[in-house]
Amino acid sequence: MAAETGRFLRFTNTDLRAPDAISDLREGVKAGAVGFGELKFSGDLDAPEARRLYELAAEMNVPVLIHFQENNSFSGFRRLPQIAKEYRNTRFIGHANSWWAHISAQVDDKVGYPDGAIQPGGVTDRLLSDYPNVYGDLSANSGRNALARDKDFARKFLERHRAKLMFGSDCGCVDGHGSGQQQGGALKGKCTAQETLVLLKELTNPALFKQLTVDNATTYFGFPKGYKP
Ligand SMILES: [Zn+2]
Ligand SMILES: [Zn+2]
Repeated sequence: MAAETGRFLRFTNTDLRAPDAISDLREGVKAGAVGFGELKFSGDLDAPEARRLYELAAEMNVPVLIHFQENNSFSGFRRLPQIAKEYRNTRFIGHANSWWAHISAQVDDKVGYPDGAIQPGGVTDRLLSDYPNVYGDLSANSGRNALARDKDFARKFLERHRAKLMFGSDCGCVDGHGSGQQQGGALKGKCTAQETLVLLKELTNPALFKQLTVDNATTYFGFPKGYKP
């Protein structure tokens, strides 16, 4: 970051159960981070530790990127609308299994990567429509899976929420071709970023593709003026 000034932005993170969690996060932003996350937390999304995080995000005016995975991280996804309403000054960026499973109204919490047709009216779809403070990232196996399982639905979903969604890779590969990739399933041995970008191209027109992969994030996170992706 020091060598390439103006080309990188970073988030900051901590263990929410640690006694210094809140001061660590606060210091992280003071040191230049533009957001909190991605946050994983083995408790419920409305636990006291999580509530302190939402309050701090609003106070410091930075978004919080959350890994939603039922029975694993920020459980209780179906209660997120209530939390988004209660913390209306907190900007939430949704990510991971439960966030993407709830693109459909029909969800089995035991299935990490659901397939088949999407039932309209899912919690995620409603959150993006009804709450100006809720956004989504398109990263990881879960994001790609949600877009691939029902392409007709995905095309309209991307168009409908075009101002709220941002491309992310969350890919652990070291060469852009999948070496070192940790994620399994359909992405085993493949680069998550490549696979998601190819799919996004198929599902969008060039203007929407650019908005989702470049414009939204650069605007949202405030890249310096003159930044050229
Ligand atoms: Zn995650
Ligand atoms: Zn990769």
